[in-house]
Amino acid sequence: MNILRALVVLLFLGSCNTKTTNHFDLIITNATIIDVLGNTLTKSQLIAISQDTIRMVDDMTNLNKYKASQTYDAANKFVMPGLWDNHVHFRGGDTLIEENKKLLPLFLAYGITNIRDAGGDITPSVLKWKNQINNKKLAGPTIFTSGPKLDGNKPAWPGSIIVDSNDDVKIALDSLELLNVDYVKMYDGSLKKEIFYEIIKQAEARGLKTTGHMPLSADILTATTLGLDGTEHMYYVIKSCSPLVDSLTQTNPSYSMFPQIVESYDPKLADSVLKKLASQNAFITPTLYIGKVLSELTEVDHKEDSLLNYIDKGIQKTYQGRIETAKKAKSQGNSSRSQLGQLATDMIVPLYKSGVKVLAGSDSGAFNSFVYPGESLHLELQSLVAAGLTPQQALITSMINGPEFFGLREFYGSIAEHKVANLVILERNPLENIKNLDNIKATIIKGKVYDKKMLDNLLQELKK
Ligand SMILES: [Zn+2]
Repeated sequence: MNILRALVVLLFLGSCNTKTTNHFDLIITNATIIDVLGNTLTKSQLIAISQDTIRMVDDMTNLNKYKASQTYDAANKFVMPGLWDNHVHFRGGDTLIEENKKLLPLFLAYGITNIRDAGGDITPSVLKWKNQINNKKLAGPTIFTSGPKLDGNKPAWPGSIIVDSNDDVKIALDSLELLNVDYVKMYDGSLKKEIFYEIIKQAEARGLKTTGHMPLSADILTATTLGLDGTEHMYYVIKSCSPLVDSLTQTNPSYSMFPQIVESYDPKLADSVLKKLASQNAFITPTLYIGKVLSELTEVDHKEDSLLNYIDKGIQKTYQGRIETAKKAKSQGNSSRSQLGQLATDMIVPLYKSGVKVLAGSDSGAFNSFVYPGESLHLELQSLVAAGLTPQQALITSMINGPEFFGLREFYGSIAEHKVANLVILERNPLENIKNLDNIKATIIKGKVYDKKMLDNLLQELKK
């Protein structure tokens, strides 16, 4: 190549370069960026986005260097990575597929850009929505799903994969890998302790993440040492903080042992258990808010809940089951749920301080009465703050620990070059008060803006 030709090529590349670096699909201007991990604000910023990725973050004084197809003026507003709800469900069988699909915009309306679906019986639909959302053909949050739960030969939930022998473990994990799910969710309807451990071992060998309920005879420290990545709800960590755990699980490994477990809770033992869990990099999803709702089901009248307007009749019908259970428990004078809830709340600060990764998750979905998708994650974050976390720490449990569970911190959790453009724009600063999450001005999914008007329209559609 002669010098002149080389020069022409260089000039050509140079001009292409200018074009690609300075023209973007979307620019958010005048933004006050919230750095959740740093607990700081940076004013007068612009965020340049192309396709689904943040390409540049720059000072507004450089605005003239940027061009975009779309501009969103975020003057006097706060821009933050979108919220993660790390425990939701889509379920209720084929007849409720459409009703489940209609829940997706509710997450957007509450600034939730990422959800972790913790298992159900409509996996093909969930995987379809996940793709459609990724391709911007459907309005909803980015979905991570476990697909069907793994349970024993009498599964608690329909659609679970039955795993009753070591051979079953291999077959189950093969089929989950074939479905291309994001992680493995176990359930304790009838899962045997030995099989539970075997699932963890085999999943670990395949590089799959595991979490779930645990058979009550299993031990959380043994499980995390084998490779269990997370546990859902507080039962299993609370159980291991009682010196009576061994004798109780030998004689009666059932949820009826919890009053005794709660009564014999030992803070010193808890301290050592939590430290060990933290050293194993364990994640725990406390789901405090649903615990409160379920413990008060017989006292609180939900008929006038405004969010019921967005929940279709079929899903509303599934709420009845837990109402009946609560009535029965009340008639038997059983208040173990509220005692357990109080201890779970008391353990949040020790959990967080020990270094265990707390995950904010609502457990919203069919069958989980009056825990509405979207709002319930805000109420979970408020519960975590009421339990003693700062607003910053509560936010960390959502949009920092959420991606961390999947090993995706490189792509999520802050507003910086190369991160996924899943953002929320807020009227007020939630680091000051977690209730400031209430005023969502826009939610951005993979670079697509849903402004307040679009979010309102999506909700209006749901009411029809
Ligand atoms: Zn759940």
